[in-house]
Amino acid sequence: MPKVKSKQFQAPKGMRDILPEEQVYWDKFIKSAQRLAEDYGFQKIETPVLEDAELFVRSTGQTTDIVTKQMYTLRTSSHVRLALRPENTPGVLRAYLQDGLVNLPQPVKLYYYGPMFRHEQPQAGRWRQLYQFGLETIGEKASIMDAQIIQFCFHLFRLLGLTKINMHINSIGCQQCRPAYRRALVDYFRHRKNKLCPDCQRRLKENPLRLLDCKEEKCQPIKAQAPATVDYLCDECHRHFKEVLEYLDEMEMPYFLNNALVRGLDYYTKTVFEFFLEENEKYSAIALGGGGRYDDLVKELGGKPTPAVGMALGVDRIVDVMKLTLKVKPTYNPKVFLVELGEMGRRKSLKLFETLHEAGIVTAESFGRDSIKAQLKNADRLGVKLALILGQQEALDGTVIIRDMQSGVQETVPQEKMVDQVKKRLAKN
Ligand SMILES: [Zn+2]
Ligand SMILES: [Zn+2]
Repeated sequence: MPKVKSKQFQAPKGMRDILPEEQVYWDKFIKSAQRLAEDYGFQKIETPVLEDAELFVRSTGQTTDIVTKQMYTLRTSSHVRLALRPENTPGVLRAYLQDGLVNLPQPVKLYYYGPMFRHEQPQAGRWRQLYQFGLETIGEKASIMDAQIIQFCFHLFRLLGLTKINMHINSIGCQQCRPAYRRALVDYFRHRKNKLCPDCQRRLKENPLRLLDCKEEKCQPIKAQAPATVDYLCDECHRHFKEVLEYLDEMEMPYFLNNALVRGLDYYTKTVFEFFLEENEKYSAIALGGGGRYDDLVKELGGKPTPAVGMALGVDRIVDVMKLTLKVKPTYNPKVFLVELGEMGRRKSLKLFETLHEAGIVTAESFGRDSIKAQLKNADRLGVKLALILGQQEALDGTVIIRDMQSGVQETVPQEKMVDQVKKRLAKN
């Protein structure tokens, strides 16, 4: 056989492994978020990672960067065009319509967690496989729902030890009032067209609201003077926005009115918001998450007119920030270490390990190590209170040695009394 040089495989560009040492932060986030979501009355939903690509074109938006530049698509052998989901609101609404959730008492309050995929230029805080945790409240138009979603976010940030959070908020109106705003915007930018970046010149034709999203240096001063949506809101949108802000004031939640905030998706109506980390070089510019109201989207996807509001948090970014500020204890915390010696001891050790586990005693081991010295060293490193030693003789006699790691005192006990004896000693300390 000809020799083939072995290849060192790499994860795809912009994607990464999340290693055990980092998992404590992920676990802390996910457990806190799930628990809080359930306390707020949200139920978990999981949807496929792959969806009909058309779903995102119709909802996220035909002219958005997410759909035109960042979507991973594939064609199946039967020529169906699928996309790896770049975000999850469209999938959740598809499920809401397909699975009859529309027939449940409204609003339907759902939460989700999972990977999203965006083919972006990799840079700090941006991954091509990113994780989002999101809430959707579907079927209620009251402004208190917007406030509840925002309250959840601040509540969760607090549980995670993130206190320096800034929220930017805006209202981008509805189908009634947006055309007038759009006209004002186009009018304003058309007169300054030559000063805009090429992307913005294109946006001016395709999707003028996106102009406010531009990050190019040269567009910033023009953007700053642009007409503000809040000056064009219809009575209904104006009242709704005012109420949301009143709820925030009532809860003493800080916010910053940002006229330029439009979000990168097409389906938003009325309230939009984003969260940033204060005084942080990296994360004062990249949002930790955001959301808003999307009252027309269910109808757009073929349902009855159904108002809804939601948000998604970027878990990768939040974990990044948690690592700066939070000490998380590892969840693996064994109290007992099982040492096995000799052929018989080794053979019986797995069964004993299981007995301890069933009795709720978290037990560590280093099976496969021959020397007692090496095994006890590991026991010491883990800081366990007791070591259980199962040697050749003990295995034959049906006993086990219990060693107090601190005093070094040892006692041989019958295996059937092991659990009681261990529990008694652990309780004493
Ligand atoms: Zn309106
Ligand atoms: Zn621009």
